[in-house]
Amino acid sequence: MVSSSSNNSSDNTIDPDSITGNRGTAVEIPEEIKDKMRGKSYKEEYASIVGITWDDLRYCQIPYIDFNGNRQIGEMILNKSVAEDALDIFEELYNIGYPIEKIRLIDEYDASDYQSIEDNNTSAFNMRGTNGSEITEGNVSNHSKGVCIDINPQINPWIDGDTGEGTHENAREYWNRDYTQWSNETAKKAYIGEDSEIYRIFTEHGWRWLGGGKESGNSDTQHFDKVN
Ligand SMILES: [Zn+2]
Repeated sequence: MVSSSSNNSSDNTIDPDSITGNRGTAVEIPEEIKDKMRGKSYKEEYASIVGITWDDLRYCQIPYIDFNGNRQIGEMILNKSVAEDALDIFEELYNIGYPIEKIRLIDEYDASDYQSIEDNNTSAFNMRGTNGSEITEGNVSNHSKGVCIDINPQINPWIDGDTGEGTHENAREYWNRDYTQWSNETAKKAYIGEDSEIYRIFTEHGWRWLGGGKESGNSDTQHFDKVN
């Protein structure tokens, strides 16, 4: 498997049969989830800089197919402006069998973007600056608003446009975006590029992909967003 924890079923605490069908659910954030997020992905001192409140966010439970081909239900925080649309997208991804290794709240990684990526975790909301830095005025990642999703981020890394390299050694094989050369068959199915089904699905829903290197010269191949 791609990462050492791929077979660790303890990552998933939600009964895969607790949702009927393949479309997820989005609700106002329950108190016990807020308790997990406070001081981690949701930092009260940054809320005014970001310009959101708890009421702008939704707690989503999302059915997905994991890297072993099993049904799982992940947890994700999204802005209410995109949550229902994202659930439609994840249902389509489920139905085409697009594999996702895990979808855990980034709070399980103490809101560390680096550690979440290192574990190939798919995530969305996190109050942070760009590239995982601390928030300041003028340095607010759109992840802080919950309108971006990073998918299978080890296999779909951020790549420096000048050097062609990423920032995670365990993703070195995937800095080369010619997935036909990759060794792992599941990783090939999880590939994101303009020639992938997942790209087609997100963009048909009006989401933007930052993997093309058009915005900054760098390629953020894991990242889709719907900013407007
Ligand atoms: Zn991102």
